[in-house]
Amino acid sequence: MTEQQTPLHILRSVFGYQNFRLQQDAVIAALMRGKDAFVLMPTGGGKSLCYQIPALLLPGITVVVSPLIALMKDQVDALRLNGVGAAFINSTMSIEEQRDVVRAVHDGRCKLLYIAPERLFADGFMEWLAKQRVSLFAIDEAHCISSWGHDFRPEYLQLSVLKEEFPRIPIVALSATADEQTRADVLDKLCIPAAEQFVSSFNRPNLRYFIEAKRNSYARIKRILDARPHESGIIYTLSRASADKLAAQLCEDGYSAASYHAGQSPQERQLHQEQFLRDDVNIMCATIAFGMGIDKSNVRFVIHHDIPKNIESYYQETGRAGRDGVTSDVFLLYSAGDVMRMRSFCDIPGNPRQSAVLYEKLQKMVDFCEAHMCRRQWLLRYFGEDYTPPCNACDFCLSTHESYDATDSVRLVFAAVKELHERFGANAVIDLLRGSESVRLEHRNLPSYGVGKSTPASAWRKMIRELLATEFLEQKGSKYPVLALRDSAREVLYGDARVRLAVEAQPDADDQFVPSRVRKGVARVQQYDETLFEELRQTRRQLADAAGVPPFIVMSDATLIELAAAQPASKQELFHISGLGEVKIRRYGNDIIRCIQSFHEQHGVTRSEVSREERVTEAAPKRQIPRHHDTKSYTFELWRDGKNAEQIATLRQMTVSTIENHLATYVENGKIPLGKLVDAETIAYVRSTMRAMAFKPGMPLKTLYQAMESKVGYGQIRYILAADFPQTEQEQNRNG
Ligand code: ADP
Ligand code: ZN
Repeated sequence: MTEQQTPLHILRSVFGYQNFRLQQDAVIAALMRGKDAFVLMPTGGGKSLCYQIPALLLPGITVVVSPLIALMKDQVDALRLNGVGAAFINSTMSIEEQRDVVRAVHDGRCKLLYIAPERLFADGFMEWLAKQRVSLFAIDEAHCISSWGHDFRPEYLQLSVLKEEFPRIPIVALSATADEQTRADVLDKLCIPAAEQFVSSFNRPNLRYFIEAKRNSYARIKRILDARPHESGIIYTLSRASADKLAAQLCEDGYSAASYHAGQSPQERQLHQEQFLRDDVNIMCATIAFGMGIDKSNVRFVIHHDIPKNIESYYQETGRAGRDGVTSDVFLLYSAGDVMRMRSFCDIPGNPRQSAVLYEKLQKMVDFCEAHMCRRQWLLRYFGEDYTPPCNACDFCLSTHESYDATDSVRLVFAAVKELHERFGANAVIDLLRGSESVRLEHRNLPSYGVGKSTPASAWRKMIRELLATEFLEQKGSKYPVLALRDSAREVLYGDARVRLAVEAQPDADDQFVPSRVRKGVARVQQYDETLFEELRQTRRQLADAAGVPPFIVMSDATLIELAAAQPASKQELFHISGLGEVKIRRYGNDIIRCIQSFHEQHGVTRSEVSREERVTEAAPKRQIPRHHDTKSYTFELWRDGKNAEQIATLRQMTVSTIENHLATYVENGKIPLGKLVDAETIAYVRSTMRAMAFKPGMPLKTLYQAMESKVGYGQIRYILAADFPQTEQEQNRNG
């Protein structure tokens, strides 16, 4: 490495990416300064580069501790394809192979050494390591060291001696799942109390979340699969038997499926996993045993056939989709019966405390499924993050929401809660409303007794859930939670505030429910030629087989999509494609170009039909056009090119509300006339509502939004405020 090489040079020349993601550059800078660091990034966020780039810039070797042998091999294969000297040592290797690795370290050919924790402390390895020039330790899946985490591995505990033995070598700990408590524990156990912490958002912008009622699940699954031929996906089931049954049934019906669970022999499991990794099998029907060991980046969908046991599992399992950043869909088929079944697993005999925790976590999962709000917002809130909907990529945000004025019924609920002195839970409130037999004698002469007899208990329950989700009611106490009124509820009960609730979307019998609407609502991220994509996939397949690695390691799906969109004609042009570094272009460039050329010959497409600039923009605007360092001005340019906020969001893989915020700043500074974004009638309506309610900047946008009965979107409201109250953009962002 020459001296003037910077992290950005390495990112571009070795890995073929244009810009850093999330906090990658900050982490790298800290490590280069010799600091310890803790990195929390969601799956697919790009944790590996945080230590791989320093490894290439620092003298000596970087030791990467990783718990899974299969993952290590993939990482090393991927690095080697980029021309980086990397190796792993594990117990499956012969002495001779291990000796080769040692030699490679000695003569500087190996910059990254991957190793399992137990191996690190065996056979005098630490003594050997002490004699090498080690520049950095990277601890992957660092939450495994904490018994608070959900994946504690006792062998990780030994890592606490690293700092003692190598006090001057920086340590970077990386994880995708660590709550506050686990994080503190990781720093403590690794003896790096002063580590700089880099915590990224848990949002996975390329995942689209769908939760639907489970009815005729097999037919539903087939429809999901039929809409995604050739795509890889995982179907999670609760039991081994149902994983096997589902896989067999799918195979019989002509799908490419296999199963994976802990009841199979290691050989069988290994075989199925390999087939899946190599795209020989498209669909993996699996219990949660299938998880940790899989790093396949081109998983395009995940289906939960049964409800997961808690939000953490759901997040992690759905997180296996779309690691390459390409839009991917996750479905959960929800049924009350499954919840009952799941509940029985929560009972840990002789351990009521643990049982209560499991039960509570399952209940959260149920709340999530039944919540009437943006799924992404709900999930992120669970992880302690704010998110302003709509995300336009979940079943809630993509449905047309009809609402009705529910004030009269809602008042009955609030009154009942009040009469019970906010000391009883939902069941008691419903019983009181319905005048049920089980109501205590002393409550039978309360005014609410029996006033809601004609409405079924399930409808009351649904309403109460929605009132909790919309923050009119709150639950207090954990063991026996009681319902309490929030101020907003008092305004309904005693004032003249009104409440609108969602009308349940009724999927009809032939069920065009989620998918059709969704497909209409959101385009695939990028426009590209699907036939060419297929041919490139075949080429990738051949290259992978020749190299003996899974296809996604040769090139990610994201790279193929860019190729199929930009259709480069020369090796030089390949440098514009994200994910192709110098070595890969040297190695595979000719094959790629040949594939594209032969496609053009066969289909008679000439490249001049689309100008290059346009093609590149469509393919990967953010990464490819370096002059757009300013994210807002890039949004502005796309808007000027005639794209609307939704299209820009899709193109840039950002949320619509972010794009709307960008555009609002241009309304504010007068570069976009308000009338170009909002029609005159809407402007007049919003302005008159603002006057009527004496709306002032700084007040929550939500009040204005609700006052207009959700008829005008947040984006339009933001634009109007930006025009009418310049300089208040920041408040709007905060309150929106
Ligand atoms: P994680 O370990 O956080 O789950 P990875 O390190 O495996 O994620 O990265 C996920 C994918 O994103 C990989 O295909 C990786 O090459 C890609 N990637 C990482 N950083 C960038 C970047 N700055 N630009 C584009 N792609 C990136
Ligand atoms: Zn949403």
